[in-house]
Amino acid sequence: MNPELMNAAKKAEDFCAPIFGEIDENCRFWTEKVLRAFVEERVSAAHLGGTTGYGYDDAGREVMERIAARVFSAEKCLFRSSFASGTHALTVMLFGVLRPGDTIISVTGEPYDTLQRVVRGKGVGGLEDFGIRFDCIPLTEDHKIDLDGVKDAAKKARVIYIQRSRGYALRPSLAMDEVEKAISAAKESNPNVLVLVDQCYCEFVEQITPTQAGADLMAGSLIKNAGGGVARTGGYIAGKKEWVEQCAYRLTAPGIGDEIGCTLDTNRDHFRGMLLAPEVTAAACKTAVFAASLAKQFGFGAAPEPNDHRADIVQTLLLDDSDLLIAFCRGLQAASPVDSFAAPEPAPMPGYDCPVIMAAGAFVQGSSIELSADAPLRPPYAVFLQGGLTYELGKLGVLSAMEAVLKIKN
Ligand SMILES: *Cc1c(COP(=O)(O)O)cnc(C)c1O
Repeated sequence: MNPELMNAAKKAEDFCAPIFGEIDENCRFWTEKVLRAFVEERVSAAHLGGTTGYGYDDAGREVMERIAARVFSAEKCLFRSSFASGTHALTVMLFGVLRPGDTIISVTGEPYDTLQRVVRGKGVGGLEDFGIRFDCIPLTEDHKIDLDGVKDAAKKARVIYIQRSRGYALRPSLAMDEVEKAISAAKESNPNVLVLVDQCYCEFVEQITPTQAGADLMAGSLIKNAGGGVARTGGYIAGKKEWVEQCAYRLTAPGIGDEIGCTLDTNRDHFRGMLLAPEVTAAACKTAVFAASLAKQFGFGAAPEPNDHRADIVQTLLLDDSDLLIAFCRGLQAASPVDSFAAPEPAPMPGYDCPVIMAAGAFVQGSSIELSADAPLRPPYAVFLQGGLTYELGKLGVLSAMEAVLKIKN
């Protein structure tokens, strides 16, 4: 590799050392919490196998879901490979608790691209088709949740919706202290309002969870943090027992709920993924911090900044140019363990309103806890980088991406 780049990498790692120390400390906290849940639930070899058909009395699934509930500090959890994606889990969460005539208000601005048609889509079975009103209030100018707006919204709404990670928006992800304030404001204003949280990319990054802070439900994807890079598909919904049960009736069938749902051979992956998730999430956080520090040395903007508090594993780098953006994604792909020879191309994607480029040389299709970079092809040509099964793999991917960028810059 180019010596200027190797020099910058060394500097970046020196700068990042104390930040990595904090990430390791956080990883210790979560590893202990997860292991304690395994011990308390008395996981045995018999739980690692799975069931077929209806999946009645799937002891492995039941124990896994109790472990996930303990880890997330929730009363109950659905943790299943039958969720096809994070969007599916979030959709089941919304349809699980909302009823015709209800109003849901997002207090973190527009939700993630793939949720647009869930909350608005007419004629595709979105909330609107069921007479459920969706509204949203933007973040304040300094990207905080508008707490007066939340209080106001809670008086009019059945559900207050919070999306913590940034999606493809250029705003910071929302830290738990901010989310806690919003939950308290909503509940103070209307004790009957439900608070639902999109927790995608945030699991294991901070030590408090939204459900611990009073949210009624949260949901996420198993091909992001919560699957630990092991789960091959799936999602979860965690929270208050009453509402998780309503979601289970939506996921399977009314009155049947979580009693069925065979696991085939996924239990072993889910246990192992959960056990490794704190470590893998820490590797992703370190990769993000390293990338931010490296990019800044070459004059690119980074959000968050290397030493900013992090709420999720996503790192935005502002490349300001579509060719540099494509080069970054191709360079990252070239240092992937799978499909390293492929060159990603921007293309239209279902659920997105402009071409999107995605680099992911992953063992699981589309997995973004494995090192990945993606970006909508629109100004300011920001790339969204996340994942890394190990820090060393993440670092190599970022170096390869930056090398490709430097080759064509200037
Ligand atoms: C990833 C993500 C989702 C869900 O996306 P899927 O691709 O359907 O798993 C939802 N919200 C946010 C903020 C996300 O990052």
